[in-house]
Order: sequence, then structure tokens, then C-alpha cells
Amino acid sequence: MREKRFNTQAVHFQKKESAYHVSKAKPIYQTTAFTFSDLDDMESFYEGEKSYLYSRYSNPNTDDLGVGIALLEGAEDGVATSSGMSAILAGVLAVAKEGDHVLASEDLYGGTYQLFEQELPNMGIDVSFVSFGDLETVEKAITDRTVLIYTESITNPLLRVEDLEGVISLAKKHTIYSMIDNTFATPYLLQPAKIGADLIVHSATKYIGGHSDVNAGVLVGTAVLIQKAKSKIVTLGCNLTPFEAWLGCRGLKTLSLRMQRQCENAANLAKSFNKSAGVSKVYYPTDVSAKGNGAMVSIDLAEEVDVEEFFKNLSWVKIAPTLAGVETTVSYPLRTSHRTIPDELRSELGIGKQLVRISVGIEDETDIIEAFQHAIKQAQIKNL
Ligand SMILES: *Cc1c(COP(=O)(O)O)cnc(C)c1O
Repeated sequence: MREKRFNTQAVHFQKKESAYHVSKAKPIYQTTAFTFSDLDDMESFYEGEKSYLYSRYSNPNTDDLGVGIALLEGAEDGVATSSGMSAILAGVLAVAKEGDHVLASEDLYGGTYQLFEQELPNMGIDVSFVSFGDLETVEKAITDRTVLIYTESITNPLLRVEDLEGVISLAKKHTIYSMIDNTFATPYLLQPAKIGADLIVHSATKYIGGHSDVNAGVLVGTAVLIQKAKSKIVTLGCNLTPFEAWLGCRGLKTLSLRMQRQCENAANLAKSFNKSAGVSKVYYPTDVSAKGNGAMVSIDLAEEVDVEEFFKNLSWVKIAPTLAGVETTVSYPLRTSHRTIPDELRSELGIGKQLVRISVGIEDETDIIEAFQHAIKQAQIKNL
């Protein structure tokens, strides 16, 4: 063969792939598809001997993230998706179809509430929202069309800790699937698959990524259900990109270190709020797990604290409508995550105008405590 001409050379300059470059960090398979040496080789994908054909179907980086979380959760299999929202959608569609009914907790993450309240009914899937504080109420809401019970292990923003064993055993009693959003707890604190949850979902955008630089979701669960969810993800195009999966995997490696520090900082910040006159109520759970109680702290500022002034005086603490990064951030649920929840339900849930949600980071604990003490003090003074 003669040498390649210019335009051909411009795209075919790479050395042939060798299986022998064993790099220490996993390469990013930033590719839409995989190539084959001949037709028999390609046939081997369809026969299940080769794993990769087209990156929307599967990709080594996205597989790593799904399988990595499944291993930590003690679940049979897992799949990574483009966002927490698409992981939730894929999980629901793996078990529910037109005519079915889903029973969901009323204090869900705002985006999930919107998906369940607006989109699922358009697909012919009915959703009832009930208070999960009392499982008898939940049981009464089960109908003969109910296929799924859906809740969150730790709720947002009031940090109610779900009775997972109760919810899962109720589902089993009625032969209904259970699905748990484990984003706030992470597998570091809780592993709902180990106590029988069928599907567990994560917004990997939060603690799994951990650095506020990747939007991703992960769904784990029984092999049969994950297979069904994968087929929805492929068809709906909810796949995660290789680079974002790679970032998610990098984040996962430090999940336990970050969670350990963030949980400790959060527990101490909550303690400091208990002693503060500027705080009328502290929401911080005490019964999540032996390893810690999560890294989210919510507070009701006392009536005499001006919320606008509080947010203006946070010094290095940033206002951000997300959570779980290594930096401490604050959000205002009334105007962000819970904006779309009807007023009546919002006040029933206890999400008022003095409520502030704090995502505690890995900084020095004393600096975090001082930053909030300062903001509260400034907001009190200016109000007088
Ligand atoms: C952020 C979040 C989601 C949605 O995840 P995205 O990655 O933003 O799509 C779902 N559930 C909980 C509890 C969340 O915090």
C-alpha cells in the first residue's frame, strides 16, 4: 500500500490499539463506537462474548460507575445514566407501565415530585403521594394496580430518615417493588439493597461525584430489573457520557473519606446551632447509621433573623442550588428545590420562609461554624 494522502493521514494517525498499554488510571473511552477486525469479531458482540459495540448501549467507563456503586450497595447489578432524574425514570419504567399505580412519599426531591406528578400521568402511570411518617397510611393507599413504592432514605430538605425496613417489608408483603433514592445517605451510610430494596437510585451529581463538576445518575438493583432499565436507557437515550462517568468513578474513590469528614463537620455544626439563639430549629438526624448521620443540616432561622441579610453575610460560604460538594454551600429551598411544590403542600411539609439548607463540606470545622455564627449575628443586628 502506498503512503496515505493528506486527508486520510489527518484522521488515521494513531498507533493501533494495544491491549498492553496498562495505564495506572483508567483511560477514558471517549468514543461513540467500537471497531472490529472482521465480521466474525463483530458477531461476537451479538453472541455476548464482547461487551462493547456502540456507546449509547454501553461503554467501559459508564459500566465502571454502575458496577462500582452496585458493589458498594451490595446489589446484583447497576447502570449509570445521564442524571439522577433519568436514573429515576429508568427505574420506574423498568417496573411500571400504562395502567399501573405508583405510591410515593409526599416529601420527595422537587424534580422527582415533578416527574411523578406531571410526566408519569401522561404515560398512563398514576401516582399517589402520601405521608410516609405512618406506614399504616401507606398500606391503606395500596391498590390492586400498585406496582411500586418509592421513597428517599433521607429526605430533602427536612432530613427525615425513612423507616426503610418498614417500607421494604410492606412492599414485600403486597408483592410490590420498592425503590429507594439513596442520594443523601450514599452507600457509605446506608445500603438498602442489603435489606431487600429492589431498586436504589443515586444522583451521582451529589456525593458520588463529590466535586460539583459532573451530572450523572446511577441505578442499582436486581439483575432482572437492571436489565429492563438498561433497555429503557438505551432506547430513551439516557446514557451517560464516558468523560462524566470517568469523573464519577474518580469521585467514588474518595467517597468514604469525604463522607467521613463531611458527616463529622455536619454533626458539629448542628451541635453549634443547638446552642445558637438565632436558630429556632435544627434538622439533623441522629439515627442514620453507625458511621454517621449525613452531611446535610437544615435550620429554621429565628424570626428575628433576616433571611436576606443572612444570605448576604456568608463570607466564603457560597449560595448554590445543589449539594454534596467538598465546599460548604447553602440553599434556600423555598425559592429553589421546592419552588414548584404547591404552597399548601409546602407549608404542610414544614418548608417555610426561615428554612435554610446547608450542605457541609470538608473545610476546617471551626471555620464553618464561625462563618455561620457570623452570618446569623450580622442578620440579627441589621434587623434591630
Ligand atoms: C439532585 C437530586 C436528584 C436529581 O438528580 P440530578 O442528578 O440533578 O438529575 C434526585 N434525588 C435527589 C435526592 C437529589 O438530591
